[in-house]
Amino acid sequence: KKKAKEFKPEKVACWEKGERIPFIFVSLAFDMIANESGRIVITDIVCNMLRTVMDTTPDDLLPVVYLLANKIAPAHEGVELGIGEAILIKALAEAYSKMERDVKKMYQEMGDLGLVAKASRRTQRTMSKPESLTVAKVFDTFRLIAKQSGKDSQDSKRKHIKGLLVAAIDCEPQYIMRLLQSKLRIGFSEQTLLAALGQAAAYIEKHSKPPSNVQSPLEEAVRIVKGVYSVLPVYDIIVPALLSNGVWNLSKTCNLVPGVPVAPMLAKSTKAVSEIVNKFQDIEFTCEYKYDGERAQIHYMEDGSVEIYSRNAERNTGKFPDVVATISRLKKSSVKSFILDGELVAYDREKNKILPFQILSTRARKNVVMSEIKVDVCIFAFDMLYLNGEPLIQEQLEVRRKRLYDSFEVEPGFFQYATAITSNDLEEIQKFLNAAVDSSSEGLIIKTLNKDATYEPSKRSRNWLKLKKDYMESLGDSFDLVPIGAFHGTGKRTGFYGAFLLACYDNDREEYQSICKLGTGFSEAQLEEHSTRLRTKVIPEPKTYFRFGEKLNPDVWFEPSEVWEVKAADLTISPVHCAAIGAVDPNKGISLRFPRMLRVRTDKTPEEASSAEQVAEMYNAQKHNQPNPEADDEDD
Ligand code: ATP
Repeated sequence: KKKAKEFKPEKVACWEKGERIPFIFVSLAFDMIANESGRIVITDIVCNMLRTVMDTTPDDLLPVVYLLANKIAPAHEGVELGIGEAILIKALAEAYSKMERDVKKMYQEMGDLGLVAKASRRTQRTMSKPESLTVAKVFDTFRLIAKQSGKDSQDSKRKHIKGLLVAAIDCEPQYIMRLLQSKLRIGFSEQTLLAALGQAAAYIEKHSKPPSNVQSPLEEAVRIVKGVYSVLPVYDIIVPALLSNGVWNLSKTCNLVPGVPVAPMLAKSTKAVSEIVNKFQDIEFTCEYKYDGERAQIHYMEDGSVEIYSRNAERNTGKFPDVVATISRLKKSSVKSFILDGELVAYDREKNKILPFQILSTRARKNVVMSEIKVDVCIFAFDMLYLNGEPLIQEQLEVRRKRLYDSFEVEPGFFQYATAITSNDLEEIQKFLNAAVDSSSEGLIIKTLNKDATYEPSKRSRNWLKLKKDYMESLGDSFDLVPIGAFHGTGKRTGFYGAFLLACYDNDREEYQSICKLGTGFSEAQLEEHSTRLRTKVIPEPKTYFRFGEKLNPDVWFEPSEVWEVKAADLTISPVHCAAIGAVDPNKGISLRFPRMLRVRTDKTPEEASSAEQVAEMYNAQKHNQPNPEADDEDD
C-alpha cells in the first residue's frame, strides 16, 4: 500500500503468534501518532498496527481497539473512566515512592500527569521485576476500576492503578495515566480509528473479495465500518463480526437494534425561506415546527421495556418516567418494537400550550419519581428509525413518517406528531414559520421527503435545514462554546469572574481555539453561580491543546468542562482570536462580535461544542449574505 507507514516497534514489543499482546506495543504507537500531524499517515500507522494484531492474536483486537478509542464500554452503558486527579496523584506517589507534594509540584511544572508518571518511572529502581503489562491486563483492570463504586472503592481503585504503574515500562506510565483520565491527547480521533479499522479489515484475506462493482475497496471498507458504527456503536459486536465474517458482510450482521442508541441526524443552518426554495428546487420537502426542548430517541423493546437516549447517546430514562408511561400507553397494540426520534417539550396541559425550554431545564436529571413531577412533558415525534424488527433508516422520510403516523394514538399534551406542511410556496412557508414562532417553537426544520431523504445517522445533513426566526434578524445560529479562561470582575462583579474566554473545538487538530470574550447576558446571580462552579475547574496553566492569541491574558484558565450557548451580532476576522485559523485567513482566526450568554448546554460535552469548521462555514455564509461586511473590528 502506497505511503504506508510501517509500525514495527520490535525491540521491546515482540510476541509469538497467539500470545497476549504487550501493552508497550500500543504505548509506542501512541508515541508515534503523537509525533505525526497528518491524518493519512496516522491512519496508516493504526491500520498497520491493527493488521499486526489481526494476524497474530486476533483475540486481542477488541481490547486494542478499545484502548485506541480511549473507552471501556459503549457510551450508552454509562461506564466511564475519567479518574480524578487526586487518586492518580496518590497512586503515582505510592507506586514510585515519592511524596505527594513532590508529585503535585512536578504536575504544576509539567502540566500533565502522564509526563509526570513517565519522568518518575525513570528514576525508579525496583528490586524484583514485575510481569510485563499486556493489553488485555490493562484493559481488564480499567474495566474493573470503572465498575467500582461505594465506600471502599477509592482505595481499591488506587491499588489497581498502583499495580499497573509499578509494572509499567518505558512510555507506558504516561499512557496509563492519560487513558485513566480519558484524555489521550495525541491528536487522534475515533473517526480515524474507524477508518483504520475498515482498512485493516479489508486486508483480511480469508474473507470473500469486495463486490465486483466496488472501485476502491479501501474507501468502501471505511465507509462500511463508519456507517455501521453510527447505527450500532458497540465494538463488542462489530470487532468479532469483522473477524469472523469480514467487512463486506458487516452491514448484514450489524444493524440498529432497540436498546442501542443511533447517532442522531443533525441539521444545517439556513438564513432565509428563499434559500430553502432554491436549495430544494426540484425536490419535494416538508416543513416541520422546530420545537425547543430536548432531543429524545425512544427505544421500545419486545419485552415491553423502554429506554430514552439524549442527543449524545446518554441514557436519560431515569429522568423521564412519565414519557416511558406515555409511550407504553399510547402505542398501538400492533407495535412490538421501535426506535422513535422526537423532541420532549415542557407543556401546560391546562392551557394546552408549549412552555419554554427554561421550564423543562428545571426538571431533576436523575431518578425522577412520577408523583413528584411538576413540569409535564409532551413528546413531539418526528421520525421512526426502526419498527417491529425492521430497520427503516434506508427508507425515504415519506415512508418512515407514514409508519410513524400509523403506530400511535395522539393525545394532546402527551404525545403528538411534529406539526408539518408540505409546500414550496414562499408565502405559505413564511406564514407557517410565523405560526411556529407564535406557538413557542424556535422556527422550522425543512426536510426532503422522497428523494435524498434517508435517515443519515450522525450527519449534519444538507437534507435537513433549520430555519430559526431570529436567524433572519441577526447572525444565523447560536454557538455552543467552551469556557477555557476568565477575568476577575471589578465593581459590582468584584469577587466573581467578570468575563470569560470562550473557545470552539477543532476536531481535526483536537484543540480548543479561542473565539471571544464574554461578559454579557448574565444576571449577577447567574454570574456568581457560574463563577462558583468554574472555580473548581481552575488549572495552573493553559493546556497545550488551547490555541489563543498572545495578547489574551486571562487571570485564570479552566479545564474544559462545559458548553455555553452564545448568540452574537456577527463574525469577524480577528487579530487576537484563533477560531478556525487557517480556514478563511492563513494566519488569523475568527471571532464573535457582541456575544451574549443564552444558557448552559448540559446535553453537550466540550468536544461537541461548535466546531472550527462550522465557525468557518458561518463566516462564509455571512460574507455571502453581506457583500460588504464591516472592517476587522474586535469585540474587546
Ligand atoms: P445541533 O443539534 O444541530 O448541533 P443544537 O443542538 O443547538 O444543534 P439546533 O441547531 O437548535 O440544535 O437544532 C437541531 C435540534 O432541533 C435537533 O437536535 C432537535 O433536538 C431539535 N428539533 C426540534 N424539532 C425538530 C424537528 N421537527 N425535527 C428535527 N429536529 C427537531
